Amino acid sequence: MPFTMSCVICKSEIEKDDSVYFSGNCRWNSGPLVGLTAKSEEVEQMSFPQNKQHQSMCMSLYRAILERTDWDSPRISGIVQRLPMQGLPYSVLSDPRSARIGFHPSKLTSLDFRFWVADEYPRSSLKPGECVGYPIHMTCWVLLGRFLGKEVLEANLSCLLKTVKQAQTTQNGRHPLHSQTKKQTQFDVAPWLKCCSGPPSDRCEWKMSCKQMSPVVIPELRDLIARASRHGTARAFPKCMANIPVEIRIMIVEMIYKQPGYCQARIRETKNMLRAFGWRLPDSYWQERCIPRLVFEIQDLIQAGRVVDWKYLCLGLEELVFKYRWYAGSGLRNRARICKKIEGIRTGFQKMLDDNRREKYILNV
Ligand SMILES: [Zn+2]
Repeated sequence: MPFTMSCVICKSEIEKDDSVYFSGNCRWNSGPLVGLTAKSEEVEQMSFPQNKQHQSMCMSLYRAILERTDWDSPRISGIVQRLPMQGLPYSVLSDPRSARIGFHPSKLTSLDFRFWVADEYPRSSLKPGECVGYPIHMTCWVLLGRFLGKEVLEANLSCLLKTVKQAQTTQNGRHPLHSQTKKQTQFDVAPWLKCCSGPPSDRCEWKMSCKQMSPVVIPELRDLIARASRHGTARAFPKCMANIPVEIRIMIVEMIYKQPGYCQARIRETKNMLRAFGWRLPDSYWQERCIPRLVFEIQDLIQAGRVVDWKYLCLGLEELVFKYRWYAGSGLRNRARICKKIEGIRTGFQKMLDDNRREKYILNV
């Protein structure tokens, strides 16, 4: 049976890919087998081309949380690419700040750790000096960092592993970290659907995989933010209906938003109404409606105090999301899928941290 290497967070496969693309500073390794090395931060924020040649490249990049019998606690590795025809054990860069795209040197260097995938190789079978690793997509690590805090994660990797294992056991009673099938992971959440009637009638189109698009850098969203920034602050022209209290304006706009079957036509209706009545709504209203919990770019814009046309940005985002064909295969849907998994881990992880802190406190008193 072919071996499937799955991410411990989102449970979907670490894709196999050997295409090489890089858009920043990098250097070529010497030797017969070559790869590009760069800072991991740079690769994490890279925008990947959305063409057939590089289709699965983003989700082929991964880190591993490594455990060894002679280490006090687990360690997070650097980023490497899962390549086709790769021999076992796998090897990852030991430095978490480094990333390598493409082939690794034929001989193991001091920059690499070799590991056996923990799912297939129990920790109890480890010989001295051997590592087991829990693979995690590069992008899932970035999203985890955004939601749980990067420093907290790095300092509490054993808590993270325990939480992930517990969540897996309680969720489906299967062997911890057992790989799910493609079918189970492919058709996942669409949080936006709470305010619309449902996916288009062509179910096959909706079920199209979104797993290969980067959930971190979404080019269409970046373009929209750039346009909304050029707009600056939204202007409202004085009209006879402009004096209606803001609470009433919000109530009327919300009535359209919460209608079953909210779609592109209702977005147009909202825009026309705001323009015709010369209404302005508070920026905070539009910001909250963008679901900043998921669209973290919104939080970044607010924190940076950027001048943005929030109405333009919010309705533009909804227009994107209700283009079902785009959304069904987009990085935004992939992000929603992964964030749902992270939500499932977050409570257990925080509870474990609190319990540990309490235990340490009691021991020190
Ligand atoms: Zn993942």
